[in-house]
Amino acid sequence: MVKFKRILLKLSGESLMGKQNYGIDAERLSDYARQIKEVHDMGVQIGIVIGGGNIFRGLSGSQKGFDRVKGDQMGMCATVINSLALSSALGAIGVKTKVMTAIRMEPIGEFYNKWKAIEAMENGTICIFSCGTGSPYFTTDTGSSLRGIEIEADVMLKGTRVDGVYTADPEKDPTAQKFDEITFDEIYHRHLKVMDLTATTMCRENHLPIYVFNMDVYGNLKKVISGESIGTLVHD
Ligand code: UDP
Repeated sequence: MVKFKRILLKLSGESLMGKQNYGIDAERLSDYARQIKEVHDMGVQIGIVIGGGNIFRGLSGSQKGFDRVKGDQMGMCATVINSLALSSALGAIGVKTKVMTAIRMEPIGEFYNKWKAIEAMENGTICIFSCGTGSPYFTTDTGSSLRGIEIEADVMLKGTRVDGVYTADPEKDPTAQKFDEITFDEIYHRHLKVMDLTATTMCRENHLPIYVFNMDVYGNLKKVISGESIGTLVHD
C-alpha cells in the first residue's frame, strides 16, 4: 500500500556532497538512486527537484563579488549538473528518467512542460526538474513548490539531513522537540525555518502539504511512502 500516488521529491544539493566538502559523493548519489528506485517499483509517480548548493549558490557568490543574477544563473547550472548525475545513477540501475530544464538547453534536457511531465510520470518515467524556477532570486525550494503544485503532486517530500521539524535547531539546541505534524500557520507563528518563506507560502496557498524527513538514512523514503510516521507533516 502506498500513501502517496504522485510525489515531488526535493533533495538538497548539499546532501549530495556526502562526506566531501564539495561536489558529488558517488556513494550518496547511488544511495539516493536506490531509495528512489524502491518507491518507483511500488508504482509511485515521481518528480524530483534537486538543489545546487554542493556546487554554487548565487547568494554566497554575490557576497564574494559575483553579480547576483549571474551567480544565480551559475547556481541554476549547478542544479542541472546534479540532475544529470542523478539521472545517470538511476539509469545505471534500470530506471527511466527525463531531465527537464526551466531554461532551454537542449539536448542536455527537455524544456519543461507540465503536460509532458505528467504524461511521462504516468508512463513510469521519473521527471527530474532542473534549473529551479528558471529565474534568479529564487531557490530550489521554491522550484519544488512550483513544480509540485503544477504536476498536482499529493505531497512534497523534503529530504533533509534532519528527521523533521523541531521547535529549535536540533543540531544546536539539545532541548529541541520534534513535531509529528504542524500547520503552516504555526510555522509562521513560531518563525520555524522549514523552507524559505516564498516556497512555504506557495505550498500553503495551493494546499500542497510538505513532509520533512531524513533522506540520508537508507530506507527512509520507502517508509514515508508506506505511511510510517518518521518525519514531520506540514499541512493547512
Ligand atoms: N537558483 C535560482 N533560481 C531558482 C533556483 C535556484 O537562481 O529558481 C540558484 C540560486 O543561486 C541558488 C542555487 O541556484 O542558490 C542553488 O539552489 P539552492 O540554493 O536552492 O540549492 P540547495 O540549497 O537545495 O542545495
